[in-house]
Amino acid sequence: MTKHAISFEFFPPKTDEGLGKLQLVQQKLLKKNPEFFSVTFGAGGSTRDRTWDTVMKVREGGTDTAPHLSCIGQDQSEVTDLIHRYRDAGITRLVALRGDMPSGMGYAQSALKYADDLVRLIRAETGDHFTIEVAAYPEMHPQARSFTDDIAHFKRKIDAGANNGITQYFYNADAYAYYMEQLDKLGVTAPVVPGIMPITNFANLVRFSDACGADIPRWVRKGAEHQPDDGSLRAFGEEVVTRLCERLLALGAPGLHFYTMNQSAASLRILDNLGL
Ligand code: FAD
Repeated sequence: MTKHAISFEFFPPKTDEGLGKLQLVQQKLLKKNPEFFSVTFGAGGSTRDRTWDTVMKVREGGTDTAPHLSCIGQDQSEVTDLIHRYRDAGITRLVALRGDMPSGMGYAQSALKYADDLVRLIRAETGDHFTIEVAAYPEMHPQARSFTDDIAHFKRKIDAGANNGITQYFYNADAYAYYMEQLDKLGVTAPVVPGIMPITNFANLVRFSDACGADIPRWVRKGAEHQPDDGSLRAFGEEVVTRLCERLLALGAPGLHFYTMNQSAASLRILDNLGL
């Protein structure tokens, strides 16, 4: 079987106890031999220190660990400082994002308005040191003016020096197929790995999806709503997401990036089902 690059995303726990639990989760995920783990970064730098601490703990497991770094609302010198600190600590991969500001929170205008500005800054400051991952949106970023505009902005990030894309999660494989076809037409050949969100807590998923513009197809929504208990919801979600992953890999997806929500069970079951 072709080797697919598997990666797992964590968010930084709030406490040391949470960090200890996350290391146990990580140990379970390590048996899938991931290419890397990544750790999210809170809006406007709100988890700056906790992201750093989590990255340093997670990398003790011996696998490449990529901090997410967002630029909106942040002073360029602070962002530059953090990029240098990660390089000096031996980190070799970054997930470069614009990020979002929490609504109602004012912020200083920064020279770094979009993710491509951040990619350019990373390359200017550290050359080819980092492998740079950027976000991709097969169902279109919610603030984009049009699909065509959004895909052109993805290309802009690759042209600025990013290596790979990781998508927002989605449940419609055709959206990924179409997105990849359109990138191909623009001459963009960078690998784009689908982001996979296992379905476990459906109410949370709906809330989250409304905010980030991810579509939950009606048949998935209705199917999930009619499950009699948590166990059958998990089984339903696992089947839906396993089938999605099968289709994505058949379409040529180079790997799968799991939004783990700091849990291992659902991602592991899906990977087991896929024989990966
Ligand atoms: P950009 O690529 O800059 O795009 C943002 C919007 O602006 C898009 O609508 C785009 O079409 C448009 N645009 C881009 N360039 C231009 C331009 N030059 N002129 C006009 N319009 C433009 N958020 C976090 O806060 N922390 C995280 O750790 C985090 N991790 C993520 C990981 C992944 C894999 C993904 C897919 C998303 C993640 N996010 C995270 C969410 C992300 O920050 C938001 O989706 C944010 O709204 C956009 O970030 P971006 O990097 O895609 O922005």
